[in-house]
Amino acid sequence: MTTVDINIISKIYPQKERAQAHAAIADFKLSLNPGEFVCLVGPSGCGKTTLLNIIVGLDTDYQGSIGVGGQHSHPRIGYVFQNPRLLPWRTVRENIELALPPASSTDQIDALLDVMQLSQMQHVYPERLSLGMSRRVAIIRAFAINPELLLMDEPFVSLDAPTARQIRELLVKLWQQRPHTVLFVTHDLREAIRLADRMVFLSSAPMQIVSHIPVDIARNQREDEANIESFRQRLLNDYPAIKTLL
Ligand code: ADP
Ligand code: MG
Repeated sequence: MTTVDINIISKIYPQKERAQAHAAIADFKLSLNPGEFVCLVGPSGCGKTTLLNIIVGLDTDYQGSIGVGGQHSHPRIGYVFQNPRLLPWRTVRENIELALPPASSTDQIDALLDVMQLSQMQHVYPERLSLGMSRRVAIIRAFAINPELLLMDEPFVSLDAPTARQIRELLVKLWQQRPHTVLFVTHDLREAIRLADRMVFLSSAPMQIVSHIPVDIARNQREDEANIESFRQRLLNDYPAIKTLL
């Protein structure tokens, strides 16, 4: 497990059609503790995906620095995109294997498939999977590399509530078995309360941190809706400004 230090001085998208460039992120500093589960909560379009793309190295056009681990220049970062992005011509198992070095342990894939309840589906092609199953494959693929940092970009959007709940519970089980440092993006406050050790609230244009709020509900109390709801009510009473960020 690894300490993560994010320091983005500025990220600007040049605008081709509009006269002005778009300042997407400014003066953004965030550190994650080893094994910490942090939820980023902010409105649609505030710059969350932009941030994850910078952290993982897909976007290098910014000012600042990203430190994951510190010792080496190529940290292992797992990335669960909003869209599962499975290769349609590969089976579930092959999609997972593609993320791994050749000759990786097959036991570890078996174990992940088992926790995510996908052992029966490992030899089928993605077209036969429901969205919820595809999302679970994407989560396995990200965990399988044993990442030093796991990025998740609204991975439960467009799922019905029972499916989202099931996958959330499986994710937490996996994370408790194999603790990783996680940065999880959502615009759903209840989802953040259910998952996070700490929530980080964001404003938009440019994206900046408004507040850090720890979630002090015990993990085994979080599937009780009443606990989530009372935490949420207390939060909105104590920090009314958060309402404008949801
Ligand atoms: P979020 O993930 O929080 O919904 P994004 O990171 O996708 O937000 O986008 C943040 C802002 O940057 C939005 O205003 C969006 O329109 C703008 N943006 C995103 N990608 C590009 C791009 N490639 N070129 C110009 N503007 C972009
Ligand atoms: Mg996004």
